[in-house]
Amino acid sequence: MLKLFKTILKAGEPTVKYPFAPLEISPDFRGRPELNSQQCIACAACTSACPANALTMETHPEENERTWQLFIGRCIFCGRCEEVCPTKAIRLTNDFELAVTNKADLYVKAVFRLQHCKVCKQPYTPEKSAQYAVELLRQSGVSDEALAGMKSQFSTCPACKRQQTVGLHDQRMFSLSNAEASHE
Ligand code: SF4
Ligand code: SF4
Repeated sequence: MLKLFKTILKAGEPTVKYPFAPLEISPDFRGRPELNSQQCIACAACTSACPANALTMETHPEENERTWQLFIGRCIFCGRCEEVCPTKAIRLTNDFELAVTNKADLYVKAVFRLQHCKVCKQPYTPEKSAQYAVELLRQSGVSDEALAGMKSQFSTCPACKRQQTVGLHDQRMFSLSNAEASHE
């Protein structure tokens, strides 16, 4: 009997006191993903990378908004969203206590406004994505004057830009053929 007590004492406490005491978590533990909506630019990189479709993004042009949504019930805590996020807006926390009494509490949503094209007036990108692109150029050394000159480009949708480029190309070809004809 004494030998048994000695063995038990030597082994120490093999179990943890959780939930009556906090559980010690590894710093690399991957728990509940958390979004910082201030930092998020609604670029959709995380929703494309999420292998479990826990992250989704929907665009509603008629309501002028794009909705980002996380459904914790599908999350497999792989960390891909954190890896691909360009602004570090999403990160995995140490939170592992995910039980809820209401299914709606498993959803996290964020809504972003869309920017409208100055030519066709249609929404084409989240406002924050457009602002982020301008900020990246500024940080890469483009001057404020040059950025002001590019303002028109930043507020034109890709389809209208293509049309403008084709129009310019056609004009140039027309002028060239006119110039050639006048030399003949
Ligand atoms: S941790 Fe993985 S599964 Fe969960 S939301 Fe991020 S990418 Fe999706
Ligand atoms: S990748 Fe980052 S910035 Fe882009 S939508 Fe996801 S959380 Fe937002």
